[in-house]
Amino acid sequence: MAKVMIDPGHSGSYFNRSPAVPDYYESNMTWTLSQKLQAALNRRGVAASLTRLSKDEDPELTERGRRARGCDLFLSIHSNAAASETPSAPWIIHYTPDDGTYVDEESSIAGHLLGPVISEVMNLPDPYYYTKRADFDRDGNGILDDEWYGVLFGAKSVGVPGVILEHGFHTNPNSALWLMNEDNLDRLAEAEADAIAGYFGKDGGDEPMTGAEKKEFEAMKQELAELKSKVDDHNDQIGVKWAYIDKNLPEWAASTVKKLADAGYLKGNGSNSFELSYLMLRILVILDRAGVFEK
Ligand SMILES: [Zn+2]
Repeated sequence: MAKVMIDPGHSGSYFNRSPAVPDYYESNMTWTLSQKLQAALNRRGVAASLTRLSKDEDPELTERGRRARGCDLFLSIHSNAAASETPSAPWIIHYTPDDGTYVDEESSIAGHLLGPVISEVMNLPDPYYYTKRADFDRDGNGILDDEWYGVLFGAKSVGVPGVILEHGFHTNPNSALWLMNEDNLDRLAEAEADAIAGYFGKDGGDEPMTGAEKKEFEAMKQELAELKSKVDDHNDQIGVKWAYIDKNLPEWAASTVKKLADAGYLKGNGSNSFELSYLMLRILVILDRAGVFEK
């Protein structure tokens, strides 16, 4: 069964108040939405847990990500803040590209799946996708391949694809008011759970494809496309085209083609091929029978 670790951003009841809507606190919204998402996923046969067991528990950021160990997806739930009231589009923060693993691709796929869902349900502009790599070697492995955001750094360190979902900006009064409405959060949770269940397979109970399986699947698709193109070429060359008056020409068309070639109506291309398709042959024969070419 697929497993999701949901991180309700921040902690407590009064963290990150909206300057535009004083009753809005980001930590209230993330707690409520995360619980609704957890329930909605469970109903779809996807196991879901939270990074913290109480509203006031406040695990360190990297630790939140690490709590996704053994899960298939890590989601950190937030609303964004800006210096002005204007910004509104959801920010989707996924892993930076990393050739050494597939979790970065998975993170991007999950992010690009959920971003449009948030935009649609919240009636916001298209999502903004963002990645940020740490400018220092956080895990000390000698490579600058670490995520800037602590929760993503933690989730990646345990091999789980992770995404931060910023549900619009709570500095925008419309979004803050929207996110305070329980019915809206219910709709958001249901829509996000639908998308996540789809990500894991239609019934939500299937194991997601591993990176190796995905690679194999892509290789098979590529092979199939090449085979199809070969078949098309083959049909082009011998199946549906007639170049000369010879034994390959169907008997029912031979006299018509000979008549048109003799009369100079058919001259062939630069290499003297008539390049006749089956459809052209039929049309010429029908016109011939109708007496179109009689002088
Ligand atoms: Zn936040």
